Amino acid sequence: MTITGRPTWLEIDLKAIVHNYRLATRCGAGVWPVVKADGYGLGAVPVALALQRAGAEGFCVSLVSEAEVLRQAGITQPMALFSGFGVGEESQVGRLGVEPFLFRLEDGERLSQAMRGGQSVAVHLKIDTGMGRLGVSPEEAPAALASLQRLPGLRVVGLVSHLACADTPDHPANRWQIERLRSVLALPEARGLRVSLANSAGLLALPESCFDWVRPGIMLYGASPLFPARRAKEEGLRPVVSWHSTVVQVRSAPAGAPLGYGHTAVTQRPSRIAQLPVGYGDGYCRCLGNGVGQVLVAGRRAPVVGRVCMDLLAVDVTELPGVAVGDEVTLLGEDGDDFIGIEEMAHWCHTIPYEVICRLTARNTRLYRE
Ligand SMILES: *Cc1c(COP(=O)(O)O)cnc(C)c1O
Repeated sequence: MTITGRPTWLEIDLKAIVHNYRLATRCGAGVWPVVKADGYGLGAVPVALALQRAGAEGFCVSLVSEAEVLRQAGITQPMALFSGFGVGEESQVGRLGVEPFLFRLEDGERLSQAMRGGQSVAVHLKIDTGMGRLGVSPEEAPAALASLQRLPGLRVVGLVSHLACADTPDHPANRWQIERLRSVLALPEARGLRVSLANSAGLLALPESCFDWVRPGIMLYGASPLFPARRAKEEGLRPVVSWHSTVVQVRSAPAGAPLGYGHTAVTQRPSRIAQLPVGYGDGYCRCLGNGVGQVLVAGRRAPVVGRVCMDLLAVDVTELPGVAVGDEVTLLGEDGDDFIGIEEMAHWCHTIPYEVICRLTARNTRLYRE
């Protein structure tokens, strides 16, 4: 792969995303891929365009600004808006044709007042069935539905809720949330509404949570939502992202040489240290310093030495004598017989794969494979 400019880049496999999307469609419900937070850090526009071509019936974003970017890029499908809209964004919601999840009546009133000349906007009422976050309770739902249905310019099209514990499929909260949602569906006010509850974990592990349409995110990007209990491979998901850099310097250091900020690493033996032009400014977590993280060089692992800097990190290549300036290094992805996935990196960082990819910054060149 030739790359101009700084030799650090992400490769995003759109075919793998489409494969993972097709796996999601097996649930039988409508699939609206979640492309919030710039497609979990991998680029909402190319991801959504690929999924639009693959037949996705809708998309989900969190912010009005995220919907705007997708509309400008030619995404024409309906779009659900998870996190509400700010004061002043009401007419934009109408213009973009996004469908907000309403979690309080005041937002519905604000939106209704902004609709002009027969314009109307589809909205979903968000029920808090047990997440303990946004929404109205099942007990408040009948009155909330009745009030929203009276507001001019709003079309109440759906009921939505979100699972708190779907990554633990036998957690009793899952059953309980499904039952609480069903109790709302049984209301006369709920007749004809489309219903959505499942995220990736619900879709894969709780078939009864799928209802009319589902909102998968992380599984499309190549990680199991049931991590760490299960891995992408076991779900049949394909890895999507790989991350590469290039050795820009290799130096020998005698035993006892201090390395990098704070001198937190001191060589224990005569060593060879390679510098890579990538750091926490690119999203390589600083917690991976001092041997916590590893990279692949020519199919073999080399540990990170010393602290991760904003623009650079160092790896110990003493055991890999052929390593030279210009060699490609894999931070994420496959090299030879070895593979470092977003799940392994999440494990090193004591976090979840979501955060590993969301924090990849725009400084990384992104290359898309169709
Ligand atoms: C982010 C999000 C999703 C997608 O969750 P995944 O675990 O990535 O599948 C679905 N629904 C809501 C409300 C969300 O905020």
